[in-house]
Amino acid sequence: MADDLHRLVYYSRNMMPGSEDEVLAGIEQILATSRVNNEKVGVTGALLFNSGCFAQVLEGTRSAISETFERIQCDPRHGDVLVLEFAPAAKRSFSTWSMGFVGHAQRDQSMFGSISERTGFDPQQLDAEQIFATMHRLMLEEESPALV
Ligand code: FAD
Repeated sequence: MADDLHRLVYYSRNMMPGSEDEVLAGIEQILATSRVNNEKVGVTGALLFNSGCFAQVLEGTRSAISETFERIQCDPRHGDVLVLEFAPAAKRSFSTWSMGFVGHAQRDQSMFGSISERTGFDPQQLDAEQIFATMHRLMLEEESPALV
């Protein structure tokens, strides 16, 4: 029971210096490592990068998420890590992605940008469900652009 499926949602601020291209190269490196590590422990989810902030959803057993997140939150490439939700989940919503990425397309940036503009990324105003639902929708659209 204690190791049932859980979901963790957090956001953080980018601490990687450099040009936009250098930051994107850094993110590619993070994604490559994440995909290898997450697949080994059955963690799925998605990472979003927008306006200098990350948002990430992790799904898996409580212990797998805890171990993964312990490493993530110590990573100097981001800071001000704020957990918005860590709770049991009925099912996986990102089951086909060991770590999907939202942020390739301009339209993704403008969609998440609307959340950014409304909240100014104020931690006290961000809602885990809102971030989760937006990321899930964007991942589905990236997978099947013709269907949306
Ligand atoms: P390596 O990748 O070999 O890294 C070894 C050590 O060096 C780690 O402490 C690492 O933090 C540090 N390191 C590596 N590259 C750099 C660098 N360029 N600058 C500074 N320090 C560096 N990991 C996951 O496994 N799953 C995830 O879902 C995940 N999501 C992440 C999301 C964000 C926003 C960030 C910033 C990192 C994420 N990571 C994730 C990476 C995580 O923080 C660890 O770096 C990684 O899990 C360690 O993997 P590794 O043991 O294979 O070590």
